Order: sequence, then structure tokens, then C-alpha cells
Amino acid sequence: MSALHIHNTLTRKKEPFVPRAPGKASLYVCGPTVYDYFHIGNARTFTVFDLVVRWLGTLGYEVKYVRNITDIDDKIMDRARENGEPIEALTERMVQAFEVDCARLNLLKPDVEPRATRYIGPMLEMIETLETKGLAYRGANGDVYYSVRSFPEYGKLSRRNLDELRAGDRVAVDAAKRDPLDFALWKAAKPGEPRWSSVFGDGRPGWHIECSAMSCRELGAPIDIHGGGWDLQFPHHENEIAQSEGALGTRFVNYWMHAAFLNMDHEKMSKSLGNFFTARDVLDRLDPVQGGEQLRFFFVRGHYRNEVNYTQESLADAGNTLGSFYTTLREVAPGEIAAIDWSDPYAARFRDAMNDDFDTPIAFSVLHDLRGEVNRTRSTALAGLLKALGGTIGLLQQDPERFLQGGIELDVRALIDERNAAKKARNFARADEIRKHLESKEILLEDKPDGITEWRKK
Ligand SMILES: [Zn+2]
Repeated sequence: MSALHIHNTLTRKKEPFVPRAPGKASLYVCGPTVYDYFHIGNARTFTVFDLVVRWLGTLGYEVKYVRNITDIDDKIMDRARENGEPIEALTERMVQAFEVDCARLNLLKPDVEPRATRYIGPMLEMIETLETKGLAYRGANGDVYYSVRSFPEYGKLSRRNLDELRAGDRVAVDAAKRDPLDFALWKAAKPGEPRWSSVFGDGRPGWHIECSAMSCRELGAPIDIHGGGWDLQFPHHENEIAQSEGALGTRFVNYWMHAAFLNMDHEKMSKSLGNFFTARDVLDRLDPVQGGEQLRFFFVRGHYRNEVNYTQESLADAGNTLGSFYTTLREVAPGEIAAIDWSDPYAARFRDAMNDDFDTPIAFSVLHDLRGEVNRTRSTALAGLLKALGGTIGLLQQDPERFLQGGIELDVRALIDERNAAKKARNFARADEIRKHLESKEILLEDKPDGITEWRKK
């Protein structure tokens, strides 16, 4: 029986997963900054770690999953000012939207979702410890900085050294810092900005200290697995290591995992290139019944350490493939399975692939083989196994008939809206045409006195 191996970014090697406490796994993932809807690249990262959490659960680990919410940040303050709304109103609205979109992607809710503004105490404690240990200092401008040269292992995750980094022309020299690479732990309050009082004066936390303080508070060090997008390795995760290991004097994280980028038509997604999509944009354009699972499957069918290229065609292809699985499950009703028999050859191959650093391309090839056999043999037991294996990674759990029929409801609603607009514009011919079209699909409309139109199947 294979054991789980994870590629550790810190060592650049696949290592057997040995949790700090037998049978338990702790996982921290860097979450969203809630100033806007999250973009589709973040959606891939969150989906990858959702898969990791589900698989750890399948292997029998008792998982504690923490994903933070950054609710104080320059981008948030700027956006709230632009919108003319209070910061809390903006962040609350975006947290709600985040939850809705995560649910559409069938992402499990983390056990704890710490919000930065509620952990100022633990952050200040850590900053004070760093100052006492000589790893932090107060700048002339009132900010508190981390002194990177005082932490000899700085750069060990991203394998950069300080001299090379300093030579980089993008490193801005700042008079308040002893070293241009030093980063702010605490930012002195500026007029009109949210502030908390502290021994360093009124201010607010830097971004990096949030994750160190919240992860150590919720999970304790060393955390088994810390995850995030590829781009967070430097400086964010490097800084997290410097802060946490500097303050605690012990190892911070045992396994670092990073999900590769999602590119748009072979280009890196960016606002300036105009190819920047939110997960919500993409989901809204997809079928309301199929779209969430289609996007989820699209995200995870490639290996998480490989970049994935987003095109309309590749997304449609993911939908078609998923549809073929559901077609099989409609034709051959899956038998109920109490527990997966891991000695079954398909199940064993699937498990081996997933245990090999979450090798989803191989795992899906096993599901394809299994589907072929279900089609040939019409075995309800094998169909049940197909559904159960899909379920370990959050796929294939919908009613096949409903999935394959798709989101007829949305079309009906859109047509009802169009009909009501036509009536308002006194275009009764068009309104009638829509009603007849829907009747031909066996959908009957009923206009209520309050102006609402209801519909039902004939
Ligand atoms: Zn983080």
C-alpha cells in the first residue's frame, strides 16, 4: 500500500508525509485579500488545496484546515475610498461574495478562517518578541521593520541570496530602513487610516506578519503543510519563515506546497493586459448547474505544480469530459458503496497516483479506464466505485440526469425577463412568441398579480 508523498518546495524533493502528530494533519493556506472578487488564478489555488484537504481526509487524517482572510491592506483602503464606502462594509461584502463563489466551486469551508483585524494582539506579541531578539527595529518614520540580515537563513525557501536580491534594480532604497530588503511589520498610522494602539505607537500590521501570527496561533508550529500560490514564495512566504522562526526559535513549517500559475491563452494574467477574470465572471458565463464542477475539474485535471492554460476551448473540453462521466453514471446507475475497497485494482491505482504528490493526471486516466469498463460491463458496482473515487476529490456527486440536462432554469428566467421587458415596451408579439416558445418546451408561465412571473413544468 502506497503512502502519501508531497513535493516540498523547501527541499525541492518529494518526501514521505509524516505529520507531527500521528493521524492528524494541519494545513494553512494563504487566503484572499477582500477588496474585490477573487480572480480565477486564486480560484485554482484554493481548489488545489481543497483537493489536498479532501485527500488527507480520505486517507483517514483528522485535518485542521485554516485559510485566512486579509481584511486590512492598502488595496482595501484605496478601494473603499474610491467606492466611498466604509472599509468594514467593503470587506464584509467581499467576504460574503467569496463564500458564495467558493460554494459554487464546491470548496470545503476551512475549519478556521481568521481575519487579520481580529488577530492584532498576536501580531503585536510576535513583533515585540522579534524586537526583543534583535530581529526588528523601529525606523525613524515610526514603522517597525524586520531586519533580514539578522536572520541568516533568509532566502532558504526561494533560494535567493541577499546580495543578489539587493543588486536587483527593483529594490527601492528607503531612508527609514537599514537594508533595502527589510520589510514592514508595523506601519505607523497616517491620517484617515484605520489604526490600533501599540507599544510602537498607533498603526496597523504589515501583510506578512498576519499569516505568521494567525497560523502559529491557530495551528502551533511546526505546521504540517503551508500552501499558497507559486508567486507567494517570495517575498511573502520567505518573510513568514523569517518572522515565525525568528520569533519562535523553532521550525515553522514541515511541508511547503505551491500551486503553479493559471495563464490566460498562454499569457500571464494581469490587469494591464486586459485578460484578468474573476472566478465570478467565469462562473456566470457557464451553465449554472454544470459550471462550478466544470471549472473545478478544469483546475485539477492538470498537475498542481504545472501551469494550466485557460482558453474557452480547454474549459469547454473539461465540460465535455465531465459530461461523458455523467453520461456513464446515468446509463449505469451507481451501486451504493459503504467504503471504498482499496484493494480493487482501479482504486489502488487511483490511490497510488494521488499519493504520489497528488498526481491528478494519472488519477483521471484511471477514472477514464474505469469508465470504459463500466460502459462495457454495465456493472453497477464499478459505477459505484467510479462515483466514490470521484467523490474523494469533490467530483461526480451530482444527480447525472440533472447535471446533463443543465441549467434550464437560467434560460427560463432569462426568457421571462425578456418577455416582461417586451410587455413593458408594448411589444406583445415578442412577449407572446416567448411564451409559446416556452410552452413548446413544456414550460407554463403564470403571471401573478404582484408582477412576478412563475413557471412550472407541464
Ligand atoms: Zn499568507
